[in-house]
Amino acid sequence: MNPIFAKIDTSVFEVMSRLARETGAVNLGQGFPDDPGPEDVRLKAAEAVVHGWNQYPPMMGLPDLREAIARHYRHWQGLELDPETEVMVTSGATEALAGALLALLEPGDEVVLFEPMYDAYLPLVRRAGGVPRFVILKPPAFRLTEEALARAFSPKTKVVLFNNPLNPTATIFGAEDLALLADFCTRFDAIAVCDEVWEHVVFDGRRHRPVIGLPGMRERTVKIGSAGKIFNLTGWKVGFVCAAPPIMRVLAKAHQYITFTTPPNLQAAVAYGLGKDDEYFEGLRADLTRSRDRFTTGLRTLGFEVIPSQGTYFLNVDIAPLGESDDVAFCKRLVLDHGVAAIPVSAFYAEAAVKTVVRFCFAKRDATLDEALERLAGVARRAA
Ligand code: PMP
Ligand code: GLN
Repeated sequence: MNPIFAKIDTSVFEVMSRLARETGAVNLGQGFPDDPGPEDVRLKAAEAVVHGWNQYPPMMGLPDLREAIARHYRHWQGLELDPETEVMVTSGATEALAGALLALLEPGDEVVLFEPMYDAYLPLVRRAGGVPRFVILKPPAFRLTEEALARAFSPKTKVVLFNNPLNPTATIFGAEDLALLADFCTRFDAIAVCDEVWEHVVFDGRRHRPVIGLPGMRERTVKIGSAGKIFNLTGWKVGFVCAAPPIMRVLAKAHQYITFTTPPNLQAAVAYGLGKDDEYFEGLRADLTRSRDRFTTGLRTLGFEVIPSQGTYFLNVDIAPLGESDDVAFCKRLVLDHGVAAIPVSAFYAEAAVKTVVRFCFAKRDATLDEALERLAGVARRAA
């Protein structure tokens, strides 16, 4: 069997969710909301299942959805994308990532990765034959620096895999970081594969800046999005890819032999959803901001050191001040002894470079967050 998959463990998200189910813990680990998603979008999907087309949709995605994606990104991010040649629908961002890496990499090509990184990146890069070159981002700001990029880029760099807003840190790269990244990509003739699934989940008046819109990047960026995060429907696995035609043509070849298509009823509902009023998207951010603030305040009152969250469903806690040095052991104790599941952030590093940060998902009802806070009450105090 292939050792890349044979030798790795089950994803931490699955492990923690299973433990939470088995023990009846409040699950603030895997990132999914309590909110069931907008009812009108779910009704559209139901209607399309009952009355719509349930056979293979076009390989590139329903024309209505591809047009809705182009319109949505013009409205929200000022991008001009041709729905015919520059937009493709995939079965989640995960398929888009896997397809992009398989399509773009040849064995031995180098891929620049930023740690902490989403757990799927490294195995997908390795299985596609890529050689990882890591940039370790430093807390609490997690910014890019010229020196770090200069160490990671080389004439063999083919792809840079970049996630913004960044899961798990819940930080957002600023204009300077993005300009630096674009400068290195153009100088080294690299393609930026940009995982922007959290583009709508940004707080405190922030606006997402897509890398594909930066000078020099239009022809060398693969932009990846996901309806899961835009509509609080993480199980739907409807993703989008945008890229200039020469890149898209090759991405489409990978897609046609991975999944070929994505359920047409869900595509129809997402096409409808992307056209919703600005109010919906502002409301999504406002609701999550409230939950973030409730949970941040609650944790701080209990004595936890919270690292502020700028976006995503997540916030992080620094457990070093509690005298803890092993996030995995801490999370095990949290779920088994206190009944709250969280994610040890060392799972997002190739070599567990950081072992004192724990991620919580706050995209939950007030009652869920309050229950978790109640269960966490003794934890920080005991250590203090
Ligand atoms: N990339 C990042 C950074 C994510 O956080 C997630 C899921 N939370 C994904 C990709 C996967 O998205 P999807 O469920 O659409 O495959
Ligand atoms: N992206 C989600 C998270 O960060 C998990 C997705 C998954 O379970 N694979 O929690």
